[in-house]
Amino acid sequence: MHHEAHTLLKEVFGYESFRPLQQEIITNVLNKRDTLVVMPTGGGKSLCYQIPALIFPGLTVVVSPLISLMKDQVEQLQEVGAGAVFLNSSLSYDEYRHNVACIMRDEAKLLYVAPETLLMQKTLALLDSKTMDCLAIDEAHCISEWGHDFRPEYRQLAGIRSRYPHAVSMALTATATPRVQNDIKNSLNFDASNEFIASFNRKNLFLEMAAKTNPMLQTVEFVEQFPNQSGIIYCSTRRQVDELAAILIGEGFSATLYHAGLSDEERRRNQERFIRDDVQIIVATIAFGMGINKPNIRFIVHYDLPKNIESYYQQIGRAGRDGLHAHCLLLYSYGDIRTINYFIEQKSPEEQRIATIHLNAMVGLAETDVCRRIPLLRYFGEQYEAPNCGMCDNCTNTGQELVDITIPAQKFLSCVKRTGELFGAGHVIDVLRGSQAQKVLQHRHDQLSTYGIGLEFSKKQWFHLSRQFLQKGLMTQDLEFGSLKLTSKAWEVFRGNEKVMGKIEAERRSDEYTALSD
Ligand code: ADP
Ligand code: ZN
Repeated sequence: MHHEAHTLLKEVFGYESFRPLQQEIITNVLNKRDTLVVMPTGGGKSLCYQIPALIFPGLTVVVSPLISLMKDQVEQLQEVGAGAVFLNSSLSYDEYRHNVACIMRDEAKLLYVAPETLLMQKTLALLDSKTMDCLAIDEAHCISEWGHDFRPEYRQLAGIRSRYPHAVSMALTATATPRVQNDIKNSLNFDASNEFIASFNRKNLFLEMAAKTNPMLQTVEFVEQFPNQSGIIYCSTRRQVDELAAILIGEGFSATLYHAGLSDEERRRNQERFIRDDVQIIVATIAFGMGINKPNIRFIVHYDLPKNIESYYQQIGRAGRDGLHAHCLLLYSYGDIRTINYFIEQKSPEEQRIATIHLNAMVGLAETDVCRRIPLLRYFGEQYEAPNCGMCDNCTNTGQELVDITIPAQKFLSCVKRTGELFGAGHVIDVLRGSQAQKVLQHRHDQLSTYGIGLEFSKKQWFHLSRQFLQKGLMTQDLEFGSLKLTSKAWEVFRGNEKVMGKIEAERRSDEYTALSD
Protein backbone atom coordinates (compact mmCIF):
# COMPACT_ATOMS: atom_id res chain seq x y z
CA MET A 1 0.00 0.00 0.00
CA HIS A 2 1.22 3.42 -0.88
CA HIS A 3 2.15 5.01 2.38
CA GLU A 4 1.24 8.38 0.99
CA ALA A 5 -2.40 7.42 0.56
CA HIS A 6 -2.75 6.80 4.28
CA THR A 7 -1.09 10.06 5.12
CA LEU A 8 -3.43 11.94 2.80
CA LEU A 9 -6.46 10.17 4.24
CA LYS A 10 -5.57 11.46 7.69
CA GLU A 11 -3.98 14.78 7.00
CA VAL A 12 -6.05 16.08 4.12
CA PHE A 13 -9.41 14.38 4.61
CA GLY A 14 -9.22 13.89 8.36
CA TYR A 15 -10.33 10.24 8.42
CA GLU A 16 -8.81 7.53 10.59
CA SER A 17 -9.17 4.52 8.33
CA PHE A 18 -10.32 3.43 4.91
CA ARG A 19 -13.80 2.13 4.30
CA PRO A 20 -14.20 -1.34 2.74
CA LEU A 21 -12.48 -1.59 -0.67
CA GLN A 22 -11.19 2.00 -0.75
CA GLN A 23 -7.63 0.98 -0.04
CA GLU A 24 -7.62 -1.82 -2.64
CA ILE A 25 -9.14 0.48 -5.25
CA ILE A 26 -6.64 3.27 -4.61
CA THR A 27 -3.72 0.85 -4.85
CA ASN A 28 -5.07 -0.51 -8.11
CA VAL A 29 -5.47 2.95 -9.61
CA LEU A 30 -2.02 4.03 -8.48
CA ASN A 31 -0.70 0.98 -10.29
CA LYS A 32 -2.40 2.40 -13.37
CA ARG A 33 -4.88 -0.39 -13.83
CA ASP A 34 -8.30 0.45 -15.18
CA THR A 35 -10.80 0.05 -12.37
CA LEU A 36 -14.52 -0.45 -12.12
CA VAL A 37 -15.94 0.63 -8.76
CA VAL A 38 -19.43 -0.40 -7.73
CA MET A 39 -20.44 0.87 -4.32
CA PRO A 40 -23.76 1.90 -2.88
CA THR A 41 -24.40 5.61 -2.50
CA GLY A 42 -22.59 6.90 0.53
CA GLY A 43 -20.02 4.11 0.32
CA GLY A 44 -17.19 6.56 -0.30
CA LYS A 45 -16.46 6.43 -4.01
CA SER A 46 -15.11 9.97 -4.30
CA LEU A 47 -12.09 9.30 -2.15
CA CYS A 48 -11.10 6.49 -4.52
CA TYR A 49 -10.13 8.99 -7.19
CA GLN A 50 -9.42 12.02 -5.00
CA ILE A 51 -6.51 10.40 -3.17
CA PRO A 52 -4.79 9.08 -6.32
CA ALA A 53 -5.37 12.50 -7.89
CA LEU A 54 -3.33 14.12 -5.14
CA ILE A 55 -0.54 11.57 -5.60
CA PHE A 56 -0.30 11.52 -9.42
CA PRO A 57 1.98 14.19 -10.87
CA GLY A 58 -0.45 15.03 -13.68
CA LEU A 59 -4.12 15.93 -13.87
CA THR A 60 -7.15 13.83 -12.88
CA VAL A 61 -10.28 14.52 -14.89
CA VAL A 62 -13.55 13.60 -13.17
CA VAL A 63 -16.56 13.29 -15.46
CA SER A 64 -19.88 13.83 -13.71
CA PRO A 65 -23.34 14.67 -15.02
CA LEU A 66 -24.41 16.28 -11.76
CA ILE A 67 -23.58 19.95 -11.85
CA SER A 68 -24.63 20.70 -8.27
CA LEU A 69 -22.61 17.79 -6.93
CA MET A 70 -19.56 18.94 -8.86
CA LYS A 71 -19.65 22.33 -7.24
CA ASP A 72 -20.01 20.84 -3.74
CA GLN A 73 -17.12 18.46 -4.21
CA VAL A 74 -14.85 21.14 -5.58
CA GLU A 75 -15.68 23.43 -2.66
CA GLN A 76 -14.99 20.64 -0.17
CA LEU A 77 -11.66 19.90 -1.82
CA GLN A 78 -10.70 23.56 -1.82
CA GLU A 79 -11.54 23.73 1.89
CA VAL A 80 -9.05 20.99 2.65
CA GLY A 81 -6.50 22.70 0.46
CA ALA A 82 -6.60 20.30 -2.49
CA GLY A 83 -6.51 22.11 -5.82
CA ALA A 84 -9.70 21.41 -7.76
CA VAL A 85 -11.81 23.28 -10.30
CA PHE A 86 -14.77 22.47 -12.48
CA LEU A 87 -15.95 23.27 -15.99
CA ASN A 88 -19.58 23.13 -17.03
CA SER A 89 -22.31 25.16 -18.62
CA SER A 90 -23.32 26.82 -15.34
CA LEU A 91 -20.15 28.96 -15.21
CA SER A 92 -20.03 32.60 -16.25
CA TYR A 93 -17.45 33.55 -18.86
CA ASP A 94 -15.13 34.98 -16.22
CA GLU A 95 -15.40 31.97 -13.95
CA TYR A 96 -14.75 29.72 -16.91
CA ARG A 97 -11.62 31.64 -17.88
CA HIS A 98 -10.42 31.64 -14.30
CA ASN A 99 -10.79 27.88 -14.02
CA VAL A 100 -9.07 27.24 -17.33
CA ALA A 101 -6.19 29.47 -16.20
CA CYS A 102 -5.85 27.39 -13.00
CA ILE A 103 -5.38 24.29 -15.09
CA MET A 104 -2.93 26.00 -17.45
CA ARG A 105 -0.84 27.05 -14.47
CA ASP A 106 -1.02 23.54 -12.93
CA GLU A 107 -2.76 24.86 -9.86
CA ALA A 108 -5.44 22.18 -9.98
CA LYS A 109 -4.88 18.46 -9.59
CA LEU A 110 -8.53 17.65 -10.19
CA LEU A 111 -10.75 18.89 -12.97
CA TYR A 112 -14.46 18.09 -12.64
CA VAL A 113 -16.22 18.31 -15.94
CA ALA A 114 -19.67 17.63 -17.39
CA PRO A 115 -19.56 15.08 -20.24
CA GLU A 116 -20.80 17.54 -22.86
CA THR A 117 -18.18 20.07 -21.76
CA LEU A 118 -15.44 17.49 -21.92
CA LEU A 119 -16.39 16.62 -25.49
CA MET A 120 -16.00 20.24 -26.66
CA GLN A 121 -13.03 21.04 -28.89
CA LYS A 122 -11.69 23.77 -26.62
CA THR A 123 -11.70 21.47 -23.60
CA LEU A 124 -9.89 18.76 -25.52
CA ALA A 125 -7.35 21.28 -26.77
CA LEU A 126 -6.74 22.35 -23.17
CA LEU A 127 -6.29 18.75 -22.03
CA ASP A 128 -4.02 17.95 -24.98
CA SER A 129 -1.58 20.49 -23.60
CA LYS A 130 -1.48 18.81 -20.16
CA THR A 131 -0.60 15.38 -18.84
CA MET A 132 -3.68 13.52 -17.76
CA ASP A 133 -2.93 10.69 -15.32
CA CYS A 134 -6.44 9.57 -14.50
CA LEU A 135 -9.85 9.75 -16.15
CA ALA A 136 -12.54 9.05 -13.54
CA ILE A 137 -16.03 8.53 -14.88
CA ASP A 138 -18.57 9.03 -12.13
CA GLU A 139 -22.17 7.81 -12.45
CA ALA A 140 -20.81 5.41 -15.03
CA HIS A 141 -24.16 3.60 -15.37
CA CYS A 142 -25.19 6.57 -17.58
CA ILE A 143 -23.24 4.80 -20.32
CA SER A 144 -25.71 1.91 -20.40
CA GLU A 145 -29.15 1.79 -21.88
CA TRP A 146 -29.83 -0.80 -19.22
CA GLY A 147 -29.24 1.69 -16.46
CA HIS A 148 -31.97 3.94 -15.17
CA ASP A 149 -30.32 7.09 -16.42
CA PHE A 150 -28.88 6.59 -19.89
CA ARG A 151 -27.03 9.62 -21.33
CA PRO A 152 -25.87 9.45 -24.95
CA GLU A 153 -22.85 11.74 -24.33
CA TYR A 154 -21.47 9.06 -22.06
CA ARG A 155 -21.13 6.75 -25.03
CA GLN A 156 -18.52 9.07 -26.48
CA LEU A 157 -16.25 8.79 -23.47
CA ALA A 158 -14.62 5.73 -24.99
CA GLY A 159 -13.13 8.07 -27.59
CA ILE A 160 -11.73 10.30 -24.85
CA ARG A 161 -10.15 7.31 -23.23
CA SER A 162 -8.26 6.35 -26.38
CA ARG A 163 -7.21 9.96 -26.93
CA TYR A 164 -5.35 9.89 -23.59
CA PRO A 165 -3.91 6.38 -23.45
CA HIS A 166 -1.45 7.34 -20.75
CA ALA A 167 -4.28 8.01 -18.27
CA VAL A 168 -5.70 5.22 -16.15
CA SER A 169 -9.49 4.99 -16.36
CA MET A 170 -11.92 4.55 -13.54
CA ALA A 171 -15.65 3.97 -13.85
CA LEU A 172 -17.70 4.50 -10.70
CA THR A 173 -21.34 3.78 -10.08
CA ALA A 174 -23.80 3.06 -7.29
CA THR A 175 -26.48 1.31 -9.24
CA ALA A 176 -25.02 -1.35 -11.40
CA THR A 177 -26.63 -4.66 -12.14
CA PRO A 178 -24.27 -7.25 -13.67
CA ARG A 179 -25.75 -6.34 -17.03
CA VAL A 180 -24.91 -2.66 -16.57
CA GLN A 181 -21.44 -3.52 -15.30
CA ASN A 182 -20.75 -5.45 -18.49
CA ASP A 183 -22.04 -2.58 -20.58
CA ILE A 184 -19.69 -0.21 -18.79
CA LYS A 185 -16.69 -2.47 -19.29
CA ASN A 186 -17.52 -3.09 -22.94
CA SER A 187 -18.22 0.54 -23.78
CA LEU A 188 -14.97 1.67 -22.23
CA ASN A 189 -12.92 -1.23 -23.57
CA PHE A 190 -11.68 -2.15 -20.14
CA ASP A 191 -9.25 -4.95 -20.84
CA ALA A 192 -7.58 -6.18 -17.70
CA SER A 193 -10.71 -5.04 -16.00
CA ASN A 194 -10.33 -4.91 -12.29
CA GLU A 195 -13.65 -4.65 -10.60
CA PHE A 196 -14.36 -3.84 -7.01
CA ILE A 197 -17.91 -4.48 -6.00
CA ALA A 198 -19.02 -3.59 -2.51
CA SER A 199 -22.02 -5.23 -0.92
CA PHE A 200 -25.30 -3.45 -1.53
CA ASN A 201 -26.83 -4.67 1.66
CA ARG A 202 -27.68 -1.74 3.87
CA LYS A 203 -28.14 -3.56 7.13
CA ASN A 204 -29.57 -0.64 9.06
CA LEU A 205 -32.56 -0.09 6.77
CA PHE A 206 -35.80 -1.77 7.78
CA LEU A 207 -37.73 -2.63 4.63
CA GLU A 208 -41.51 -2.74 4.64
CA MET A 209 -43.92 -2.94 1.72
CA ALA A 210 -47.68 -2.87 1.96
CA ALA A 211 -50.67 -2.76 -0.33
CA LYS A 212 -52.28 0.67 -0.48
CA THR A 213 -55.56 0.56 1.33
CA ASN A 214 -55.88 4.09 2.58
CA PRO A 215 -52.53 5.63 1.66
CA MET A 216 -53.15 8.98 3.33
CA LEU A 217 -54.01 7.34 6.63
CA GLN A 218 -51.25 4.74 6.27
CA THR A 219 -48.75 7.55 5.75
CA VAL A 220 -49.96 9.67 8.63
CA GLU A 221 -49.93 6.73 11.02
CA PHE A 222 -46.46 5.77 9.88
CA VAL A 223 -45.00 9.26 10.18
CA GLU A 224 -46.48 9.67 13.65
CA GLN A 225 -44.00 7.05 14.85
CA PHE A 226 -41.11 9.42 14.13
CA PRO A 227 -41.64 12.56 16.16
CA ASN A 228 -39.00 15.21 15.47
CA GLN A 229 -37.12 13.02 13.04
CA SER A 230 -36.28 13.60 9.41
CA GLY A 231 -37.88 11.74 6.56
CA ILE A 232 -38.69 11.89 2.86
CA ILE A 233 -42.04 10.97 1.32
CA TYR A 234 -41.77 10.22 -2.40
CA CYS A 235 -44.83 10.60 -4.62
CA SER A 236 -44.95 10.00 -8.35
CA THR A 237 -46.69 13.25 -9.35
CA ARG A 238 -46.41 16.92 -8.45
CA ARG A 239 -50.13 17.06 -7.80
CA GLN A 240 -49.84 14.28 -5.26
CA VAL A 241 -46.92 16.06 -3.60
CA ASP A 242 -48.93 19.28 -3.28
CA GLU A 243 -51.93 17.45 -1.90
CA LEU A 244 -50.09 15.29 0.60
CA ALA A 245 -47.89 18.13 1.84
CA ALA A 246 -51.00 20.28 2.41
CA ILE A 247 -52.67 17.49 4.38
CA LEU A 248 -49.62 16.80 6.54
CA ILE A 249 -49.19 20.48 7.30
CA GLY A 250 -52.92 20.67 8.04
CA GLU A 251 -52.52 17.77 10.48
CA GLY A 252 -49.82 19.74 12.27
CA PHE A 253 -46.75 17.97 10.92
CA SER A 254 -43.61 19.94 10.20
CA ALA A 255 -43.45 19.41 6.44
CA THR A 256 -42.37 21.04 3.22
CA LEU A 257 -42.37 20.00 -0.42
CA TYR A 258 -40.12 19.71 -3.46
CA HIS A 259 -40.83 19.18 -7.14
CA ALA A 260 -39.89 20.54 -10.54
CA GLY A 261 -42.98 22.75 -10.68
CA LEU A 262 -41.63 25.02 -7.93
CA SER A 263 -39.35 27.95 -8.69
CA ASP A 264 -35.61 27.42 -8.29
CA GLU A 265 -35.70 29.69 -5.29
CA GLU A 266 -38.51 27.75 -3.56
CA ARG A 267 -36.83 24.44 -4.22
CA ARG A 268 -33.52 25.66 -2.89
CA ARG A 269 -35.15 27.11 0.23
CA ASN A 270 -37.26 24.02 1.00
CA GLN A 271 -34.30 21.71 0.54
CA GLU A 272 -32.15 23.90 2.72
CA ARG A 273 -34.76 23.91 5.53
CA PHE A 274 -34.94 20.14 5.40
CA ILE A 275 -31.16 19.69 5.45
CA ARG A 276 -30.79 22.07 8.39
CA ASP A 277 -33.54 20.29 10.36
CA ASP A 278 -35.76 23.36 10.34
CA VAL A 279 -38.46 21.12 8.94
CA GLN A 280 -38.99 17.44 9.63
CA ILE A 281 -40.58 15.98 6.51
CA ILE A 282 -40.08 16.69 2.84
CA VAL A 283 -42.77 15.48 0.44
CA ALA A 284 -41.17 15.25 -2.98
CA THR A 285 -41.07 13.79 -6.44
CA ILE A 286 -38.02 11.80 -7.44
CA ALA A 287 -36.49 15.12 -8.54
CA PHE A 288 -35.43 15.44 -4.91
CA GLY A 289 -32.37 13.82 -3.43
CA MET A 290 -29.59 13.77 -6.01
CA GLY A 291 -26.45 14.71 -4.20
CA ILE A 292 -28.15 15.15 -0.84
CA ASN A 293 -25.83 14.05 1.92
CA LYS A 294 -27.96 14.33 5.05
CA PRO A 295 -26.83 11.68 7.52
CA ASN A 296 -29.85 11.54 9.85
CA ILE A 297 -32.78 10.70 7.59
CA ARG A 298 -34.78 8.21 9.67
CA PHE A 299 -37.54 7.21 7.29
CA ILE A 300 -38.50 7.06 3.63
CA VAL A 301 -42.05 6.55 2.42
CA HIS A 302 -42.82 5.58 -1.15
CA TYR A 303 -46.36 6.74 -1.55
CA ASP A 304 -46.38 5.19 -5.02
CA LEU A 305 -44.59 2.21 -6.51
CA PRO A 306 -41.22 3.18 -8.06
CA LYS A 307 -40.76 2.15 -11.68
CA ASN A 308 -37.77 -0.07 -11.02
CA ILE A 309 -35.59 -1.50 -8.28
CA GLU A 310 -32.69 0.81 -9.06
CA SER A 311 -34.77 3.90 -8.36
CA TYR A 312 -36.20 2.34 -5.21
CA TYR A 313 -32.77 1.37 -3.95
CA GLN A 314 -31.30 4.76 -4.72
CA GLN A 315 -34.12 6.53 -2.89
CA ILE A 316 -34.09 4.37 0.25
CA GLY A 317 -30.31 4.71 0.16
CA ARG A 318 -30.72 8.29 1.33
CA ALA A 319 -31.88 7.05 4.73
CA GLY A 320 -29.63 6.06 7.58
CA ARG A 321 -26.35 7.34 6.15
CA ASP A 322 -25.16 7.67 9.74
CA GLY A 323 -25.43 3.89 10.09
CA LEU A 324 -28.30 4.11 12.60
CA HIS A 325 -31.67 2.44 12.19
CA ALA A 326 -33.99 3.83 9.50
CA HIS A 327 -37.37 2.60 8.29
CA CYS A 328 -38.46 2.43 4.63
CA LEU A 329 -42.14 1.95 3.85
CA LEU A 330 -43.40 1.36 0.34
CA LEU A 331 -47.08 1.45 -0.61
CA TYR A 332 -48.25 -0.09 -3.87
CA SER A 333 -51.40 -0.81 -5.80
CA TYR A 334 -52.47 -2.11 -9.18
CA GLY A 335 -53.33 1.44 -10.10
CA ASP A 336 -49.63 2.29 -9.71
CA ILE A 337 -48.64 -0.54 -12.03
CA ARG A 338 -51.13 0.66 -14.61
CA THR A 339 -49.83 4.22 -14.39
CA ILE A 340 -46.25 3.10 -14.91
CA ASN A 341 -47.33 0.86 -17.79
CA TYR A 342 -49.04 3.81 -19.38
CA PHE A 343 -45.73 5.70 -19.44
CA ILE A 344 -43.87 2.64 -20.65
CA GLU A 345 -46.23 2.41 -23.61
CA GLN A 346 -45.04 5.81 -24.81
CA LYS A 347 -41.51 4.47 -25.32
CA SER A 348 -39.87 2.73 -28.26
CA PRO A 349 -40.45 -1.04 -28.49
CA GLU A 350 -36.93 -1.84 -27.30
CA GLU A 351 -37.19 0.52 -24.33
CA GLN A 352 -40.62 -0.88 -23.53
CA ARG A 353 -39.24 -4.37 -23.28
CA ILE A 354 -36.51 -3.35 -20.87
CA ALA A 355 -38.76 -1.11 -18.80
CA THR A 356 -41.36 -3.87 -18.47
CA ILE A 357 -38.83 -6.37 -17.20
CA HIS A 358 -37.58 -3.82 -14.68
CA LEU A 359 -41.12 -3.02 -13.56
CA ASN A 360 -41.91 -6.71 -13.10
CA ALA A 361 -38.88 -7.12 -10.90
CA MET A 362 -40.08 -4.19 -8.77
CA VAL A 363 -43.58 -5.64 -8.48
CA GLY A 364 -42.07 -8.99 -7.60
CA LEU A 365 -40.13 -7.38 -4.78
CA ALA A 366 -43.24 -5.67 -3.47
CA GLU A 367 -45.26 -8.88 -3.56
CA THR A 368 -42.71 -11.36 -2.32
CA ASP A 369 -43.24 -13.23 0.92
CA VAL A 370 -39.57 -14.17 1.33
CA CYS A 371 -37.00 -11.91 2.94
CA ARG A 372 -37.02 -8.64 0.97
CA ARG A 373 -33.25 -8.67 0.87
CA ILE A 374 -33.21 -11.83 -1.24
CA PRO A 375 -34.86 -10.41 -4.39
CA LEU A 376 -33.48 -6.92 -3.75
CA LEU A 377 -29.86 -8.03 -3.58
CA ARG A 378 -30.31 -10.64 -6.27
CA TYR A 379 -31.23 -7.80 -8.58
CA PHE A 380 -27.76 -6.40 -8.00
CA GLY A 381 -26.19 -9.78 -8.62
CA GLU A 382 -25.65 -10.55 -4.96
CA GLN A 383 -26.77 -13.68 -3.23
CA TYR A 384 -28.23 -13.04 0.21
CA GLU A 385 -28.06 -16.14 2.36
CA ALA A 386 -29.10 -15.26 5.91
CA PRO A 387 -32.19 -17.21 6.93
CA ASN A 388 -33.75 -14.19 8.63
CA CYS A 389 -32.50 -10.65 8.18
CA GLY A 390 -34.58 -9.41 11.09
CA MET A 391 -34.88 -6.12 9.25
CA CYS A 392 -37.77 -6.56 6.86
CA ASP A 393 -41.49 -7.04 7.27
CA ASN A 394 -41.43 -10.58 5.90
CA CYS A 395 -38.75 -11.68 8.33
CA THR A 396 -40.36 -10.09 11.35
CA ASN A 397 -44.06 -10.68 10.58
CA THR A 398 -45.35 -13.99 11.74
CA GLY A 399 -48.62 -15.64 10.84
CA GLN A 400 -48.91 -14.72 7.19
CA GLU A 401 -51.72 -16.58 5.53
CA LEU A 402 -49.79 -18.67 3.04
CA VAL A 403 -51.50 -21.42 1.12
CA ASP A 404 -50.24 -24.46 -0.72
CA ILE A 405 -49.55 -23.50 -4.34
CA THR A 406 -47.66 -26.64 -5.31
CA ILE A 407 -50.15 -27.69 -7.98
CA PRO A 408 -50.30 -24.35 -9.78
CA ALA A 409 -46.49 -24.30 -9.55
CA GLN A 410 -46.25 -27.74 -11.17
CA LYS A 411 -48.63 -26.69 -13.95
CA PHE A 412 -46.80 -23.47 -14.63
CA LEU A 413 -43.32 -24.93 -14.49
CA SER A 414 -44.18 -27.83 -16.77
CA CYS A 415 -45.66 -25.39 -19.25
CA VAL A 416 -42.42 -23.41 -19.16
CA LYS A 417 -40.57 -26.65 -19.88
CA ARG A 418 -42.92 -27.79 -22.66
CA THR A 419 -42.62 -24.48 -24.46
CA GLY A 420 -38.86 -24.93 -24.51
CA GLU A 421 -37.91 -22.34 -21.86
CA LEU A 422 -38.02 -19.74 -24.60
CA PHE A 423 -40.93 -17.56 -23.54
CA GLY A 424 -41.98 -15.04 -20.92
CA ALA A 425 -44.83 -15.39 -18.43
CA GLY A 426 -47.43 -13.83 -20.75
CA HIS A 427 -47.09 -16.56 -23.35
CA VAL A 428 -46.92 -19.39 -20.82
CA ILE A 429 -50.12 -18.09 -19.23
CA ASP A 430 -51.81 -17.88 -22.61
CA VAL A 431 -51.00 -21.55 -23.16
CA LEU A 432 -52.17 -22.54 -19.68
CA ARG A 433 -55.42 -20.69 -20.20
CA GLY A 434 -56.04 -22.15 -23.65
CA SER A 435 -55.74 -18.87 -25.53
CA GLN A 436 -56.27 -18.73 -29.30
CA ALA A 437 -53.65 -15.98 -29.61
CA GLN A 438 -51.71 -15.90 -32.87
CA LYS A 439 -48.43 -16.62 -31.12
CA VAL A 440 -49.87 -19.71 -29.40
CA LEU A 441 -51.25 -21.16 -32.62
CA GLN A 442 -48.19 -20.24 -34.64
CA HIS A 443 -45.95 -22.24 -32.33
CA ARG A 444 -48.54 -25.04 -32.23
CA HIS A 445 -48.65 -24.69 -28.49
CA ASP A 446 -52.36 -25.53 -28.59
CA GLN A 447 -51.12 -29.10 -29.17
CA LEU A 448 -49.29 -29.28 -25.85
CA SER A 449 -50.55 -31.32 -22.91
CA THR A 450 -50.42 -28.20 -20.76
CA TYR A 451 -52.69 -26.26 -23.11
CA GLY A 452 -55.79 -25.07 -21.28
CA ILE A 453 -55.02 -26.75 -17.93
CA GLY A 454 -54.94 -23.48 -16.01
CA LEU A 455 -58.42 -22.08 -16.34
CA GLU A 456 -59.00 -22.00 -12.60
CA PHE A 457 -57.01 -18.77 -12.35
CA SER A 458 -57.35 -15.51 -14.19
CA LYS A 459 -54.51 -14.12 -16.24
CA LYS A 460 -53.78 -11.65 -13.50
CA GLN A 461 -53.70 -14.34 -10.80
CA TRP A 462 -51.29 -16.36 -12.92
CA PHE A 463 -49.01 -13.37 -13.30
CA HIS A 464 -49.01 -12.94 -9.56
CA LEU A 465 -48.24 -16.64 -9.09
CA SER A 466 -45.47 -16.59 -11.68
CA ARG A 467 -43.74 -13.72 -9.89
CA GLN A 468 -43.80 -15.81 -6.71
CA PHE A 469 -42.23 -18.74 -8.55
CA LEU A 470 -39.44 -16.41 -9.63
CA GLN A 471 -39.01 -15.04 -6.11
CA LYS A 472 -38.83 -18.53 -4.69
CA GLY A 473 -36.06 -19.42 -7.10
CA LEU A 474 -38.05 -22.06 -9.01
CA MET A 475 -37.22 -20.30 -12.23
CA THR A 476 -35.04 -17.49 -13.47
CA GLN A 477 -35.76 -14.87 -16.04
CA ASP A 478 -33.40 -13.84 -18.78
CA LEU A 479 -33.09 -10.09 -18.29
CA GLU A 480 -32.51 -9.52 -21.96
CA PHE A 481 -35.23 -11.62 -23.59
CA GLY A 482 -37.62 -12.12 -20.69
CA SER A 483 -37.65 -15.89 -21.23
CA LEU A 484 -38.20 -18.12 -18.19
CA LYS A 485 -35.92 -21.02 -17.33
CA LEU A 486 -36.31 -23.72 -14.69
CA THR A 487 -33.86 -24.14 -11.84
CA SER A 488 -32.88 -27.36 -10.10
CA LYS A 489 -35.34 -26.40 -7.39
CA ALA A 490 -38.16 -26.66 -9.94
CA TRP A 491 -37.32 -30.34 -10.44
CA GLU A 492 -37.78 -30.99 -6.75
CA VAL A 493 -41.26 -29.51 -7.07
CA PHE A 494 -42.04 -31.73 -10.06
CA ARG A 495 -40.91 -34.80 -8.17
CA GLY A 496 -43.15 -33.81 -5.30
CA ASN A 497 -40.17 -33.49 -2.96
CA GLU A 498 -40.84 -29.87 -2.25
CA LYS A 499 -44.04 -28.11 -1.35
CA VAL A 500 -44.56 -24.52 -2.49
CA MET A 501 -46.31 -22.11 -0.15
CA GLY A 502 -47.46 -18.69 -1.30
CA LYS A 503 -50.39 -16.43 -1.92
CA ILE A 504 -53.25 -16.53 -4.36
CA GLU A 505 -54.56 -13.17 -5.20
CA ALA A 506 -58.24 -12.44 -4.75
CA GLU A 507 -60.02 -11.83 -8.02
CA ARG A 508 -61.10 -8.30 -8.73
CA ARG A 509 -63.69 -7.85 -11.40
CA SER A 510 -62.97 -4.25 -12.26
CA ASP A 511 -59.49 -4.69 -13.59
CA GLU A 512 -58.06 -4.82 -17.06
CA TYR A 513 -57.84 -8.60 -17.24
CA THR A 514 -61.50 -9.29 -16.54
CA ALA A 515 -62.40 -9.55 -20.18
CA LEU A 516 -59.68 -12.10 -20.73
CA SER A 517 -60.35 -14.24 -17.71
CA ASP A 518 -64.10 -14.64 -18.04
P1 ADP B 1 -20.47 8.07 -2.75
O1 ADP B 1 -19.85 8.93 -3.82
O2 ADP B 1 -20.04 6.65 -2.82
O3 ADP B 1 -21.94 8.21 -2.64
P2 ADP B 1 -19.02 9.78 -1.02
O4 ADP B 1 -17.73 9.68 -1.69
O5 ADP B 1 -19.83 11.02 -1.23
O6 ADP B 1 -19.91 8.53 -1.35
O7 ADP B 1 -18.82 9.52 0.53
C1 ADP B 1 -19.90 9.49 1.42
C2 ADP B 1 -19.52 10.07 2.75
O8 ADP B 1 -18.60 9.21 3.41
C3 ADP B 1 -18.84 11.42 2.63
O9 ADP B 1 -19.33 12.27 3.63
C4 ADP B 1 -17.37 11.09 2.84
O10 ADP B 1 -16.67 12.18 3.34
C5 ADP B 1 -17.44 9.95 3.83
N1 ADP B 1 -16.26 9.07 3.76
C6 ADP B 1 -15.71 8.56 2.65
N2 ADP B 1 -14.65 7.79 2.96
C7 ADP B 1 -14.53 7.79 4.30
C8 ADP B 1 -13.64 7.17 5.24
N3 ADP B 1 -12.65 6.37 4.85
N4 ADP B 1 -13.85 7.41 6.54
C9 ADP B 1 -14.86 8.20 6.95
N5 ADP B 1 -15.73 8.81 6.13
C10 ADP B 1 -15.57 8.62 4.81
ZN1 ZN C 1 -35.64 -10.11 5.71
